[in-house]
Amino acid sequence: MKKIQALRGMNDLLPETTPAWQHLEATVADVLERYGYSEIRFPLLESTELFKRSIGEVTDIVEKEMYTFDDRNGDSLTLRPEGTASCVRACEEHGLLYNQTQRLWYTGPMFRYERPQKGRLRQFHQIGIEAFGIPGPDIDAELIMLTARLWRDLGIADLVVLQLNNLGTPAARSEYRRALVAFLLEREDELDADSKRRLHTNPLRILDSKVASTQALLNGAPVLTDYLTAESQTHFAQLQQLLSAAGIQFEINPRLVRGLDYYTDTVFEWVTTHLGAQGTVCAGGRYDGLVEQLGGKATPAVGCAMGIERLVLLLQEQNLLPSALDQTCDVYFVALGDVMPAAMALAENLRDQLPYARLILHTGGGNAKSQLKKADKSGAHLALILGEDELNQQQIVIKHLRNDQPQLTLGWSELSAQLQELLNT
Ligand code: ATP
Ligand code: MG
Repeated sequence: MKKIQALRGMNDLLPETTPAWQHLEATVADVLERYGYSEIRFPLLESTELFKRSIGEVTDIVEKEMYTFDDRNGDSLTLRPEGTASCVRACEEHGLLYNQTQRLWYTGPMFRYERPQKGRLRQFHQIGIEAFGIPGPDIDAELIMLTARLWRDLGIADLVVLQLNNLGTPAARSEYRRALVAFLLEREDELDADSKRRLHTNPLRILDSKVASTQALLNGAPVLTDYLTAESQTHFAQLQQLLSAAGIQFEINPRLVRGLDYYTDTVFEWVTTHLGAQGTVCAGGRYDGLVEQLGGKATPAVGCAMGIERLVLLLQEQNLLPSALDQTCDVYFVALGDVMPAAMALAENLRDQLPYARLILHTGGGNAKSQLKKADKSGAHLALILGEDELNQQQIVIKHLRNDQPQLTLGWSELSAQLQELLNT
């Protein structure tokens, strides 16, 4: 029979890889806690309308990347392609934004129908961070400083650079859009096919086109920065001052536009040159209009999301990950002959006494040779051996698996103290 396989672009995470993810997730959770952010969780499925209204009808995500289907009632549902829209929906629904600020984070799978390649999947994972109710550039700076600390804690600070831009208000942006379109219409023949299409749907996205001839063409184009209101200019300048004062280096990239419609003013990306084409490991910005757009009271907000797969790839390539081998087991309990009830009771007792120790009890029988082979493979430093003779004497053997120290026979009552000593040295 033909075996059923996973869907293209949707990866299994095998036990050899999960320690890397756990390391990353634990490091992120720790940093976020230290900055006073709380975790929020929301469903993977939402009304399609939520994403259309927030991300924007003519964005790549909504036009061609969403997993959308009708449920049995005929309602259109979508597997979330990102977290910000759901986060705003959940906050509004539960009154979390009423007269208060919120610092929140979440993690989990996101779904986009994209062409799978290195660092680009159809089910990928993000850690998202959002701060609501704070208008000034100080919270933008805090968010960026938090991510900078994270790169330091992970050991990748030297591998990523911060790109910064300000997209201004929606009004300023539409004025700029008119100027850009007028400029490009005169040169439409020289544009690549993708950009030609975008000229009439989402012209700002042409700015981050990967096509070299299009980028060259843009050298003479109007610049968004010239269209910013005085307020946006001040916000941008103050953010730069705060980052400089904090010792955070950045590059201003006037062509950084982001692929989602809800951004206003600040946008940023952390980019690495070590992952090939998919170099953005974290991206975000301000979205002061989104809460209102989704039916709430006007609420300033800023957030970002990092791609876990890309960060794990980066950590892997730099050999910055804990190895899976020495992660699973400290003590392997070999049980020979008819001793299982006592072996299980002893193992449970050890788990009570030594909660930090990782203990595997051999199950499924087998002779001493085969069980000790498993013990060796487990990576454990110590084996416990209980046979029928030991059981009769209420004794047990401790065998060193990684050095030549002689094995030791001792009474059950001494076992946990002895193990504690051996494991701590
Ligand atoms: P990209 O540069 O990959 O097109 P994007 O602008 O679509 O990213 P966002 O929607 O802002 O990205 O998502 C934030 C981060 O999530 C990205 O910077 C990236 O690290 C990660 N990410 C986005 N799409 C994917 C994907 N299909 N597979 C893996 N990671 C992704
Ligand atoms: Mg994308």
